[in-house]
Amino acid sequence: MLKSVIWASMLDYPGKVCTTLFFDGCNFGCEYCQNKDIKKAQAIDFEKEIFPKLLERKPFISHIILSGGECTIDGQFQKILDTLYQNGFHVGLHTNGYETEILEKNKDKISYIGMDIKNDLENYDEITQRNIKIENIKNSIDFIIQNIPEYEFRTTVYPKYVDTENCVKIAKYLGEHYAKKYVIQQYKRVEGIAVIPFSEEKMNEILKQCNQYVKTESRGWKM
Ligand code: SF4
Repeated sequence: MLKSVIWASMLDYPGKVCTTLFFDGCNFGCEYCQNKDIKKAQAIDFEKEIFPKLLERKPFISHIILSGGECTIDGQFQKILDTLYQNGFHVGLHTNGYETEILEKNKDKISYIGMDIKNDLENYDEITQRNIKIENIKNSIDFIIQNIPEYEFRTTVYPKYVDTENCVKIAKYLGEHYAKKYVIQQYKRVEGIAVIPFSEEKMNEILKQCNQYVKTESRGWKM
C-alpha cells in the first residue's frame, strides 16, 4: 500500500527535485530495514490525496520516485506508474531488483532506477533472510545497464554480512558488466540492533578498492 510521501526531495532522483512515494510491502527481510515504520502508517489514496497535488505542482516538480519497501510488488504499482507516465511525469524507481519481469515490462516508462545490491551474488540469502533466485538479481543488473537511461547500483555496508571483500566482488561484477555507477552507503544504526557501522577510515578503504573496478561513489559518511 502507498503509505508515505515526501513532496520535495533533493536526495532521491539524481540532480532533480522530485516527489517520492513510499509503498510498505517488501519481498526481502533485511534486519536493518529502515522502512519498518512505514508499515504502521495509514494508507494513502493515490487518486484523491496525491495525484491532484502532483498535477498542480507539475510545472515545478515533474520527477517522481516510487520507493518502499519494494514498490514493484505493490498491487497499485502498475496503475500508478501508468497514470504518471501517461501524464508526462518522469518516473524513477528505488528497487531491490528482484522482479525483473516487471522492470522489463515497464522499460519505456522508467527513466531512472536506483537498485540495491544487498551483497555479493554468493551471499544474498543471509542478508535478505530469503531463498533468493540469484538469476533475478543478475538479470535485473544486466537489464538496467542495457535499457535504463540513468541508474545507480548501491550497497548498504552492513558490517554483520558485508565487508570489503563482498563490496569488491560486487564492484568487479559491475565493472565486468560495464556498469556506469556504483555507490557504497554507510549503514545507519537501527534501534534494537547492536551492529556498529564501520569507521570512516574503513569505508574510505572499501571505496578505494571498489574504484579499481567500477566508478564508485560514497554516501553517508565524510570523506
Ligand atoms: S529490500 Fe529494502 S525495503 Fe526490503 S527489507 Fe530490505 S531494506 Fe527493507
